[in-house]
This record gives sequence, structure tokens and C-alpha cells, in this order.
Amino acid sequence: MSDLAYQKCLSPDCAATYSVDEPLTGCPKCGALLDVTYDWDRLPVPKSLREIEARWGRRNEPLEFSGVWRFRQLLPFAPDNKIVTIGEGQTILQDARSVAAYAGMNPGKLFLQHEGLNPSGSFKDNGMTAAMTHAHMTGAKHAACASTGNTSASLAIYASSTRQFKVIVFVGSGKIAYGKLSQALDYGAHTLQIQGDFDDAMLQVQAVCKESKIYLCNSLNPFRLEGQKAIIFRILESLRWEVPDWIVVPGGNLGNSSSFGKALLELKQLGLIPRLPRLAIINAQGANTLYQLYEEHGLRWNGGRFDQPLIDKFYVELEASGAKADTLATAIQINRPVNLTKALRSLDACDGVVREVTDQEILDAKAQVGAGGFGCEPASAASVAGTKRLRAEGVIAPSDRVVCILTGHQLKDPDATVGYHSGHDPKLQQMLHAHGVHAMPYANAPLGVPNQLDQILKAIRDSGR
Ligand SMILES: *Cc1c(COP(=O)(O)O)cnc(C)c1O
Ligand SMILES: [Zn+2]
Repeated sequence: MSDLAYQKCLSPDCAATYSVDEPLTGCPKCGALLDVTYDWDRLPVPKSLREIEARWGRRNEPLEFSGVWRFRQLLPFAPDNKIVTIGEGQTILQDARSVAAYAGMNPGKLFLQHEGLNPSGSFKDNGMTAAMTHAHMTGAKHAACASTGNTSASLAIYASSTRQFKVIVFVGSGKIAYGKLSQALDYGAHTLQIQGDFDDAMLQVQAVCKESKIYLCNSLNPFRLEGQKAIIFRILESLRWEVPDWIVVPGGNLGNSSSFGKALLELKQLGLIPRLPRLAIINAQGANTLYQLYEEHGLRWNGGRFDQPLIDKFYVELEASGAKADTLATAIQINRPVNLTKALRSLDACDGVVREVTDQEILDAKAQVGAGGFGCEPASAASVAGTKRLRAEGVIAPSDRVVCILTGHQLKDPDATVGYHSGHDPKLQQMLHAHGVHAMPYANAPLGVPNQLDQILKAIRDSGR
């Protein structure tokens, strides 16, 4: 299989290629990111996406059950007998009418893709199954990642469920949501809490993996992004293979944004979709590197010859200012997105836009997602908050078909939820206020009642519900 799939440098001026047998997280020649690339002409590509539906009939087989690997003809880098799967990708596309109304969309036009339904509770499992598969192909026994929480939970669950790998997870101090930290601990991962933030942990884990030949599972790993393409495949499947008008996704390290663009470009190239949707990437205002570079400084993909000095200058100034990423949406609290340049390619291909939203907008949107469906963690709600903004600006029309990616499960970060709704805990209130969240227009506060039946009945009557 090795000559049909290979790794290729993103830089058009280098374009070096490498075997898929090498665990690489950047081009050894020039340092650019790598893509997994395929010789599609010599591969058995499905003639239409509908062909893949037939695989559902064999869902008692683990590879057909997986919401990633039943699409493996579209990410054909691994032999079947090397695939590591725990049944990821059983997710749901919800036609969320009350959320549509909130965002200013027509009924039936706003869909929520609930990636929190994955085994570890976030979309990360789509990518981790691919990274673990590649690790297995290369014979790796040790794997590591840096994480704002969900990558570590995902890596840890693959280690605990398969018993094939020993894993180390690097997390920053302080800002990790407890739901996520609890998973890494419960699944038995060796957990290192670095005295620093995510960006610091990211730099350290890369150094450690290089030094000690540990397999790196962050989204710098091009194989992880291959797995995340399946999110797009499942969305199309749920829409009966019709292309939506917009895909709206929160932007952190920009792995999803990068992966989605690649998936869509490949589908178009293979003649499996007639057109590309537009892409909106939503930053939190407190971690808005992409927004600043793309919307304010005009940074563009430019055929792969993007303005690197502009990026370098931005980071030098960021460093000098001492500013740290700061948002309640901890999963996207990242100032140095490692997949920045790949995301530029996606934005270019999908006529994309980038927006920033405040923590207030994020938590209000999150309350709406909860009240109108399954709920999500704060970072995920950035996609709904971003849709509402783009709708208000007239960039998205009310009749457009929009899919918002809900990246993580509602239970990941109960502090943010309880803080918003209850208003009773001074520590949680302080945390919200420190992030500019002062109004809680959609709060659903619990009501204290005496332990007496008549008083309880009165409280229910008075509530008018
Ligand atoms: C990792 C993560 C993100 C950020 O995704 P990127 O692909 O790194 O941009 C957003 N939301 C949640 C819940 C996450 O776990
Ligand atoms: Zn290169």
C-alpha cells in the first residue's frame, strides 16, 4: 500500500514526499506541515458516495461499524489488519429548530453535528483512531500529546480500550476543565501537568517526542487529520449526500478546519460532490490569532506561498506583549494554532470567513444549544454564536443550509454550565465575570425550597411551568 499513499510537504517550493511508514510531524527538509496524499487513479475509489451506504448492512464488523473506517476508501493509508478502532463516529446531525430561530435562520436550515457523542465525548476520537492506526503501522508502543483536555481524554481512552499503547499526556496548569482531566486520570494515562499554558505544553511535547522517539498524537500529525475527514463524510451522509451551504466550526489548533478543507477538495477532485460548501471558522475573542491574521491583516493561502514574515511578525509582537490566550472556551484557548497554514488552504478552497465571538456570546449560544437539544461544551457553542453573527451581518442568508460542528459533549465542563445557570457559587460567578460574562439571559436557575410538601407544591405552582 505504501506507494499508493505517501506524505507530502505542503510547500509548493519544496513538495518533498515521504513514505507513510515514517512518523513525521513536519517536513524534515523545510519544516512545513505534511499532508497524507494518495495516488487516487490507482486506488479503488467509490463511484458515488451512496455506495458507502451499503456498508451499514455489515455493521456487525468493527471496520464497517466505525463512523471513520466505513469511509476508509477515502483515507486509504492503512491495511485493514492494522486499523485500531473502538467504534468511534456514531454521531448525530440534529435539525435544531429552536437554535435556528435563535441564530436568525429559517426552520430546517440549521443543523448541529453532535461530535460529543464519540466514545471520549469529543470529535478528537475521529482523528485519534487514525493516529493510533498509524502508530500501530509504525510499530510504536508509546504515544503522547499536549492537550487543552480533549485530546488527552481521547488518547487515554484509546490506550485504555486497546491496551496496545502506553501514553503520556501533557496538560497546562489551571485552565483544564475537570471533566476532561478526570478522563485522562480515570483511563490511566500518565499525566504531566506543565507549569504553563497549552502553547507551552505543545512546545514541550514536540521536544520530548523528538528526543525519545515517542509517537506524537497532536493534530500536527497528518494522519490524525485524515480521520477527522470522516466528520464531513458523515454530515454529507446525513444530508443524503447533498452539500450544505455552510460548515461552521470552532477554531483552536485548526485541525478540523484543515481536515475539512482537505476532505472537501478531495471529494470534489474525485467527482463525488458537485461543489464545495463555504467554511466559517470561529475564534474566541480571547484567542483570535486566525481572526486577526486573516480578517485584519489579510493573510491568504496564495497557492501555498503565504506571507510567512507576516505570521512571524505577528508572533513576535504577541510574545512581546506578553498576552496569553484567555477564554472560557478552554478547548480553543490557543494563541499559536499549529495548523494555521493548512487552515488557510481550506479557507481559500471554501471561500471562507473567520469571525471572533465573545465569551458572553459563546455561553448564551451554549444555553440555547442545551435548551434545544443535547447541549455542548463552551468551545463548541462558538459555532452557533458565529452563525448568529454571520447571519446578523447578512453573510449567511436565512435560507442557507448551515451545519454547525459541536465539537465536545455537554458534560465536559460543568463549571461553565452551572456558573451560567445557577448564579449561586461565588467562585464560578467570579470566573464568568473575569471573562466579561455579566448577563445570563437564558439562565435556568435551580430554586431552593424547604423540605415540606406544601411549600414544594406552592413553588411548582408559582413557577407557572
Ligand atoms: C480540540 C477542540 C477544539 C479545537 O479544534 P481544532 O481542530 O484544534 O481547531 C474545539 N472544540 C473542542 C471541544 C475541542 O476538543
Ligand atoms: Zn518541505
